[in-house]
Amino acid sequence: MIPFFDYRPLYRELKPEIDAAIARVLDSGRLILGPEVEALEAEIASRLGVAHAVGVGSGTDAIALALRALGIGAGDEVLTVANAGVPGVAAIRQAGATPRFVDVRPDTLLIDPNELEGALTARARAVLVTHLYGRAVPMAPIVELARSRKLRLIEDCAQALGATWQGHPVGGFGDVGCLSFYPTKNLGAFGDGGMCVTRDAEIARRVRALRMYGFAAGDRHAHVEGVNSRLDELQAAILRAKLRHLDHALARRRTLAAAYHEALRGSRCRLPEPDEGHAHHLFVVRVEERARAVAALDAAGIGYGIHYREGVHRMEAYRALGCEAGSLPATEHACARVLSLPLFPGLTDEQVQRVVGALRTVV
Ligand SMILES: *Cc1c(COP(=O)(O)O)cnc(C)c1O
Repeated sequence: MIPFFDYRPLYRELKPEIDAAIARVLDSGRLILGPEVEALEAEIASRLGVAHAVGVGSGTDAIALALRALGIGAGDEVLTVANAGVPGVAAIRQAGATPRFVDVRPDTLLIDPNELEGALTARARAVLVTHLYGRAVPMAPIVELARSRKLRLIEDCAQALGATWQGHPVGGFGDVGCLSFYPTKNLGAFGDGGMCVTRDAEIARRVRALRMYGFAAGDRHAHVEGVNSRLDELQAAILRAKLRHLDHALARRRTLAAAYHEALRGSRCRLPEPDEGHAHHLFVVRVEERARAVAALDAAGIGYGIHYREGVHRMEAYRALGCEAGSLPATEHACARVLSLPLFPGLTDEQVQRVVGALRTVV
């Protein structure tokens, strides 16, 4: 059996440090919003080259709170993609705003800046770009469009911690970058967690207030209507231990992705475009005969993922948005073909060869 994802090999490798971090928190008497969260915020901000970071309860909350901190809500439209799963869309709705879907580029499966221009309405207030699978969206045209059309720019970096565009880490191009520490992510907690990063002190202050009932630092007065969405000390301490080894984990991901590339060259799998700044969160191929490929993996006891099987624009909950089948052709074409192969630090070269061997019987 080869799982699609397993956090345990990395945990075993880092066990002394992670166990010590857990014990440190439990012995400290401080479990919520304490020194570990503060230290992790400073470490992530410094890594991403931004001034501020605010730990929150999840990546989805990070996006929702970023939107709210930017003053986006009811009546406002947020442009985004439909091929990146539900969280971004759920976050836009959580903020009270309305998603407007933009199709993706058929080569990279990232938001298509040309489509973006055409989707702008008078109500458009923000763009949520998703650095999907760990690949950075080329930011220049989007930053320029946001500037010229006075749109706020939020980066969904949930899959892309470690990714760079033109040498700069993602998360610092827009008004706010949003991270997820969901266990499968490049920096995964042992539970939920997320973070907003920003260059802007005022936005950071607002996210800090919103994450805890609208309180200002040091008081218990609700200045604005907030929520409860906090990163806890245990997760923060675990994340700090793992952060010290993040570059090592990212290097391992890069090596595994290169091995897949090499072994699948010349097959009928469409391979991801090469990209220097890719953080290799997911290794996503596209296959015409996906049902047969999946059956071959199943038969060989190999896990896989499909990110994602359906465009969010076609999901029942979002019918009211009125997006017809065929309205996002590149998105829908990709959803029918994408297949994610196992990729995590701890996966061995031999396991990669077994995955490819099983897939090769079909492609
Ligand atoms: C995981 C993920 C999120 C949400 O993160 P959670 O921490 O699970 O809420 C948002 N966007 C994308 C693209 C993701 O992959």
